[in-house]
Amino acid sequence: MDAAEPTGAARLREALLELLFPAHCVACHRAGAWLCEACAATIPGPGRLERVAWHRLRAGGLEGVYSLSPHVAPLREAVHALKYEGLRALATPLAGLLWRAWQAGPLAVDVVAPVPLHVRRVRQRGYNQSELLARAFCAASGLPFRPGELVRHRDTRSQVGLSLAERQANVAGAFGCRSGSLSGRRVLLMDDVLTTGATLMACSAALRDAGARAVYALTLTHAEESALADLAGGPI
Ligand SMILES: [Zn+2]
Repeated sequence: MDAAEPTGAARLREALLELLFPAHCVACHRAGAWLCEACAATIPGPGRLERVAWHRLRAGGLEGVYSLSPHVAPLREAVHALKYEGLRALATPLAGLLWRAWQAGPLAVDVVAPVPLHVRRVRQRGYNQSELLARAFCAASGLPFRPGELVRHRDTRSQVGLSLAERQANVAGAFGCRSGSLSGRRVLLMDDVLTTGATLMACSAALRDAGARAVYALTLTHAEESALADLAGGPI
């Protein structure tokens, strides 16, 4: 059993929560599902993964970065609920959306690794939302799930409110690999949101240092370039 497998107590807690707080859509609040079909149908985009073609990401060692939607409703609400409201149950339907989109143009990858949180942050939140997503994505796709290999050594401050340059400095050197087990592998990094790409690039550098052959990334949502230009203080 890997360390991130939910325990019996966690499963019981989930079941109790489901009983006390039946599923309701995080976007329209209708009862029945955490993200209802009507809201899921409004996710902007072509229904397949979009390549985020920012030059910096490629320069930062990422082979390709893909995302399902800009960071707008309804996935913005879903990401918020998954990350800050403890709605772990959302990981499965959200990963299902990623899996459906992935099948329209799958990438050749060998393993899936979630963007790690520092252990202190996992203790505070009780879980890593990226790991939940990656686990559910691997359950749907059959791709090998490799949590725990890429780790966050340093407990970085939240990136919220930081400029692009501050974000890069904040996460530089924060990640590392525990062994050479990803050497020669094509790794798919998974995270909930792509904002500036600073975190993904720092993860990619650590994976490359450990011998990864190629690093791709997949996120649910991505910031739009206008939001990014605000952070960068000008065009990106
Ligand atoms: Zn809805």
